Amino acid sequence: MSEQELKRKKIKAADNLKQVMADYFYRMDRISTGKEQGKIAWCTSVGPAELLKAFDFEVHYPENHGALLGSTRLAMDYIPVANALGYSPEICSYLTSDIGAYLKGETPLSRAYPGIQSVPKPDVLAYNTNQCRDVQEWFRFYGREFRVPVIGITPPRSLSEVNEAHIANVVAQLKAMIPVLEEVSGKKFDIDKFRERVRLSRQCSELWGEVLGLARHVPSPWTFFDGTIHMGPAVCLRGSQEANDYYQILKAELEERIENGVAAVDGERFRLYWEGMPIWGKLRALSEQFAGLQTCVVVSTYCNSWIFSAFDENRPFESMAQAYTEIFINRSEDVKEKYIEKMADEFKVDGIIFHDARTCPNNTNSRYGMPQRLQERLGIPCLVINGDLNDLRCYSEEQTRTNIEAFIEQLGEGKQGAWQR
Ligand code: SF4
Repeated sequence: MSEQELKRKKIKAADNLKQVMADYFYRMDRISTGKEQGKIAWCTSVGPAELLKAFDFEVHYPENHGALLGSTRLAMDYIPVANALGYSPEICSYLTSDIGAYLKGETPLSRAYPGIQSVPKPDVLAYNTNQCRDVQEWFRFYGREFRVPVIGITPPRSLSEVNEAHIANVVAQLKAMIPVLEEVSGKKFDIDKFRERVRLSRQCSELWGEVLGLARHVPSPWTFFDGTIHMGPAVCLRGSQEANDYYQILKAELEERIENGVAAVDGERFRLYWEGMPIWGKLRALSEQFAGLQTCVVVSTYCNSWIFSAFDENRPFESMAQAYTEIFINRSEDVKEKYIEKMADEFKVDGIIFHDARTCPNNTNSRYGMPQRLQERLGIPCLVINGDLNDLRCYSEEQTRTNIEAFIEQLGEGKQGAWQR
């Protein structure tokens, strides 16, 4: 085996994952091309998926497509196409790469899934600005292109606490979507179907939380980089049984690793927290660099963002409003800090990496002094990496490699004060 293969231990469940994702994309493609009956809704990644599924929509997530464009590095071909249409290089590079790919009539789905020509065409678009306003502009672009309804939720933002008034506000907005969804789907709203989708999502969240939680074990059976791949069902298939079945398989495999003392990173010396977006086009390189440094990135805000503990089928609207309003990205700086502090303690991390993603200020938490405050309070060093989720023009591989090496060296020397840009 090559050195690289030794450093990246394959998770066997990845074969099941491939099948689950292929079934999902082919099913949407059959509906979109009229080979199978059904309707397609597009939804933001932490949008009202359960409500859409209660109307039997198959749900496409443009952010998932954006991540695919990033990990295949095709984003770099498409971002300038959207820029030329007036979408700034400074705004979300998921948005610019996805719109650019659409304008060029291309998708990486065609390469991954032979026979698929394009992303599925929407019958309705549903967003939630709990994460950012970019999603609203993104969906409005497609609303104009496809001439289909664009509906959305604009919840209160940056909350220190989520109170009853916030929940009532979001519940009213969720309910206001129903007449449009009834009209587009041709189906009456059925509260029991909605409860069932909420129940399935709750189960998915629990399982996803459990598999992520297995990285608390020392040494960890998997890494943040593995998590970014295996989160596909939690993002795209929550609210359906396939996702839950898949996470049972993954959980069993990771538990077996723990039982047999198998570490994701051989000779794990250091454990890190990853704060911020993945750098999709550099996941492999980063995961190999960390493995080579005997360092395991064990926990991240990003992967944890698809754990929605509030879901409760007995209070479907209220619990859904709570789940999607109390997410990390929609909270105040002090709530975020406390969350990271708790996770850093539970996962026994030695340091925190903050990714300052140029085109996503919303998922960047290093700009208001948080690394310095956490470093002082927790007594562990923080490192800020400048980069982006998809736009690799914002990322210097050489500089980042050097900074990471120096950071790990400092961890080895037990030094603090590693925070740097
Ligand atoms: S949160 Fe960031 S990455 Fe996600 S859609 Fe908004 S701007 Fe883009």
